[in-house]
Amino acid sequence: MEIFSKCYNYTRVKEAKEQDCYPYFKAIQSGADTEVIIDGRKMIMIGSNNYLGLTQDPRVKEAAIKAVEKYGSGCTGSRFLNGTLDIHEELERQLARFMRKEAALTFSTGFQTNQGVISTIIGKDDVAIIDRGNHASIVDGCRLAFGKTLKYKHNDMADLERILSELADPTNAMVIVDGVFSMEGDLANLPEIVKLKKKYKFRLMVDDAHGIGVMGAGGRGCAEHFSAAGGNAVTENDVDLIMGTFSKSFASLGGFIAGEEKVISYIKHNARALIFSASMPPSAVATVLAALKIMESEPQRRERLWQITHKMHAAYKKLGFNIGPTQTPIVPLIFGDDMVTFGFWKKLFEQGVFTNPVISPAVPPDGALIRTSYIATHTDKELDKVLEVCQSVGKEMKLL
Ligand code: PMP
Repeated sequence: MEIFSKCYNYTRVKEAKEQDCYPYFKAIQSGADTEVIIDGRKMIMIGSNNYLGLTQDPRVKEAAIKAVEKYGSGCTGSRFLNGTLDIHEELERQLARFMRKEAALTFSTGFQTNQGVISTIIGKDDVAIIDRGNHASIVDGCRLAFGKTLKYKHNDMADLERILSELADPTNAMVIVDGVFSMEGDLANLPEIVKLKKKYKFRLMVDDAHGIGVMGAGGRGCAEHFSAAGGNAVTENDVDLIMGTFSKSFASLGGFIAGEEKVISYIKHNARALIFSASMPPSAVATVLAALKIMESEPQRRERLWQITHKMHAAYKKLGFNIGPTQTPIVPLIFGDDMVTFGFWKKLFEQGVFTNPVISPAVPPDGALIRTSYIATHTDKELDKVLEVCQSVGKEMKLL
């Protein structure tokens, strides 16, 4: 078969556009904020990962501008060679301190962080054990690794233990899990995973892309969240490697891994996604440093985000939407059916509300949903408008 035939025969996009229900790659004509402009129209944004609303903070923007003035626009090389600036090292020191780990290492995207770390740590005799609901970058890191990958049913601790009990030597295994699952907003069962870790002695890596800045008293993510839960006895030390991205609460682009100094040094000298890819540009590094400072000094942002989260959970439930087991500012409206989901998305879009329709393989088949997520800087007026539109569309489509 001619190699491009798959492209020529790919008609799904054309069909969706002809039916005027193609929801992806929408060009936004303004900056990332609670309100955006699309096709010249103002829309309320409930489809971002801008949890703390720092993308438009004047202090963050100023830091990025100053970094461009001092260092220029890019590094033109990898961290390994000509792409390490003093501010990369400063950011890594700050992240290690914040995450209470010995060391941290930054990558140019969150995706590359998972891909690079996992493919480096899971050697040919090792085993990666992952939740079936994990992010694509974890799956791709496992695909690149020379070791084996075993998957357990989403958050099913009995299935995880079944896999562990069948291993000849669980000490050569690493369990890798999203702290917050990015589409449904539910949490990994870290207390149970840590109990199993004590029994089987595997290593644990948590992808806290959606947890850092949001979860835990200090915004350190899911381990900090569960360490406050008392009796269940998760401590931050129980997670060997914590991964974060800068494309969400940190309002920029990039990612990091934090852990023991020797482990981070090994990753630093062996991860191909780090060594063979150019480093984060100065503007991004300075943005993250400024965002981290605000994250630490203004807990009221996180408090407001949680106030909004509780309000929206309660309101959607009261209206009769199925929001699944979310425990976070990611609030899915689960419809199951792809066409109903696209129909609902389109009506919200027409009425000035930006959301993301999510279908398989990003969620299980029959799990189609509208992903909504909230920003600490959303006003109550914006949120009430969102609820009003959702209620009226839900009623119109007889979904409530
Ligand atoms: N892990 C998770 C759980 C994510 O949701 C994402 C981004 N959606 C990534 C990793 C990749 O991060 P980035 O977009 O910053 O490359």
